[in-house]
Amino acid sequence: MALAHVLGFPRIGAHRELKFAQESFWKGASDEAALRATGATLRARHWQAQADAGLDFVTVGDFAWYDQVLGTLALLGAIPSRFGFDPKQLSLADYFILARGSKQHFAMEMTKWFDTNYHYLVPEWTADVQFNGGVDWLHDEIAEARALGHKVKVALVGPLTLLYQGKIKSGLGHKLDLLPKVVAGYQQLLQRLHAAGIESVQIDEPILALELDAAWRNAFAPVYAQLNAQLSGSAPALLLTTYFGEVSEHAELLRSLPVAGVHLDLVRGADQLEQIVAGWPQDKVLSLGVVDGRNLWRTDLDQVLTKLKPLQAQLGDRLWVASSCSLLHVPVDLANESKLDEELKSWLAFATQKLAEIVALKLALNGKAAEVEAQFVASRAAQASRRSSSRIHNPLVQKRLAAVTAADAERSAGFDARIAKQQAKWQLPAFPTTTIGSFPQTAEIRQARAAYKRGEIGHLDYLDKMREEIRIVVEKQEQLGLDVLVHGEPERNDMVEYFGEQLWGYAFTANGWVQSYGSRCVKPPVIYGDVYRPEAMTVGWSQFAQTLTAKPMKGMLTGPVTMLQWSFVRDDQPRETTALQIALALRDEVCDLEKANIGMIQIDEPAFREGLPLKSRDWPHYLDWAVRAFKISAAGVGDETQIHTHMCYSEFNDILPWIAAMDADVITIETSRSDMELLDGFGEFAYPNDIGPGVYDIHSPRVPQVDEMERLLRKARGVIPDARLWVNPDCGLKTRGWPETYEALENMVLAAKRLRQTV
Ligand code: GLN
Ligand code: ZN
Repeated sequence: MALAHVLGFPRIGAHRELKFAQESFWKGASDEAALRATGATLRARHWQAQADAGLDFVTVGDFAWYDQVLGTLALLGAIPSRFGFDPKQLSLADYFILARGSKQHFAMEMTKWFDTNYHYLVPEWTADVQFNGGVDWLHDEIAEARALGHKVKVALVGPLTLLYQGKIKSGLGHKLDLLPKVVAGYQQLLQRLHAAGIESVQIDEPILALELDAAWRNAFAPVYAQLNAQLSGSAPALLLTTYFGEVSEHAELLRSLPVAGVHLDLVRGADQLEQIVAGWPQDKVLSLGVVDGRNLWRTDLDQVLTKLKPLQAQLGDRLWVASSCSLLHVPVDLANESKLDEELKSWLAFATQKLAEIVALKLALNGKAAEVEAQFVASRAAQASRRSSSRIHNPLVQKRLAAVTAADAERSAGFDARIAKQQAKWQLPAFPTTTIGSFPQTAEIRQARAAYKRGEIGHLDYLDKMREEIRIVVEKQEQLGLDVLVHGEPERNDMVEYFGEQLWGYAFTANGWVQSYGSRCVKPPVIYGDVYRPEAMTVGWSQFAQTLTAKPMKGMLTGPVTMLQWSFVRDDQPRETTALQIALALRDEVCDLEKANIGMIQIDEPAFREGLPLKSRDWPHYLDWAVRAFKISAAGVGDETQIHTHMCYSEFNDILPWIAAMDADVITIETSRSDMELLDGFGEFAYPNDIGPGVYDIHSPRVPQVDEMERLLRKARGVIPDARLWVNPDCGLKTRGWPETYEALENMVLAAKRLRQTV
């Protein structure tokens, strides 16, 4: 009999209960007991959902007060010593200091968990880090789940993934130097779980989906031999999970590792099954992740069942049906969606619905198809309607896409010819100054936008308020003496949401929250159909702003890759097809802006780099279509129209040829926090087009002095020719207040002026 399980469930709660409890605790508005009570309620509810759905275990260990990697460190006692906390006595308040910092301590670094939008806290590896055991929280949670009558599977971040995802801070040559300590720590932990009667432990090693070098690859066999030896053949049985990509290059290793079972992600790595299953040992479980933990489409149950059936004969009860990865990356429950219509809802499955899908597959495999017939019928109907719905398939879009030629991606002249015409038209001074687009979003702006969305103020009132804001922003930029102005983006809450709401093919959920980090949640839009722009999206705002000034007003758009990257993307066509559809919609907007006499247009691509696949062998394909999508969005304009792009948080050195291939006339990038070092690559590569390296960090309210920025600019001049160099902040200013913004820009303009005196 096949079994059913998930690798983890979203912890934040269907109504973001954990977020509100955390934030209230941080503010001092409630105590630790209240926060703990919320956590316990959420865990109990999520376990109950798993049990009710008919899973064979509930997963314990996927809960975290902030992040599961930090949770693992707290559990092992491997918290950074620089905070001075006793790992065994760590309080929740201390734990939050690790995550968020305090007056005395800067927070642990945070970075993206593989290629997801979830951010984890980066372990700090020092020679003195200990793995001697820490807090009892996991053990308490296990007791909690058992008291509620559940059969428990414990989930842990695996030792090698934990090590790999950390950063060496001091005193170590290689992360693997810590291996003996780490293994001892996990041995201790597993023993304790064993003593508590835990029979199965899921141990996550997603690094197996990366391109590991030999040292890491070779570490798996001895590490798992040691963990297994410690258990001397008795429980808990280890289920080693891989996810986010295929792992067929490790087929031999996975077959021979001394673990009770292995989990594969068959959504991301659909093709790996055959290779891994051939010669699969007689005594090993194979858990197959067939329900997508990264996206929210209803599973094609027939298709999955057809794939699993032949395996059942081979594996019997060693076949487990599962989510591809933890469900952490999808929203909790479709039942809470009031905004989506029934048809659209019938195409979707959030975490709660995915539990039912997994169980339906298990039951169908176990000869109980009749019990889940209704589920299969609904799944079939959803697939059929997605294949044929006119909301999804727009012949206009498809025809246009089919007609796209290579020439559509190219400007009519090369950069040198274009920039000469642009310069003749605009007569900008040397080292032109500009900003990245947004200006401070004051409480008033937010209130007006919210009131308009709720229908409390009418369209004209709203228009008036926003125009007033634009007027102020333009006036301030004029006063500051900036050379290229922006309208300030007051009408935008979130850039992807702003464009998505105006494009066909996009849907927005009411409660589709997904944890991004800590208490921060995002509600990614859903791209369900062919993307089509019914009418201009930004032209009115830019045109109005341009009437207020004789200086160039930069139009402001979000690029195709970013629109894709920060959404749930349809799975019935390649990502690149969706990106190209968005690109065509943007191309029309770019051309409309040009027609409306907006002569500079910025197409932001802050998510360009994060779209890179996990395996570098897949990079060229991604980069080729991503660059093409950008170019198609930009290339419909004449030579005189200046296309800008902006990227942030990016390291570019490994993808510079592609950044150059995007052929934006001007690129602005974040560089100030790296002391302009990020720019070196551009210099070495002889990046040909104009470039604006950020001269100050917008993440902090600190006002940079003229000298500081001048110094950075001088450094930039060592790398970039004067004629190519722009002056701007690192990123948009919407999270800043006005006083610091004004002062900082005043200083920035001064720095540019000082520079001009030296040419
Ligand atoms: N134009 C956007 C802004 O200024 C860019 C935001 C971003 O790079 N994430 O806010
Ligand atoms: Zn940015």
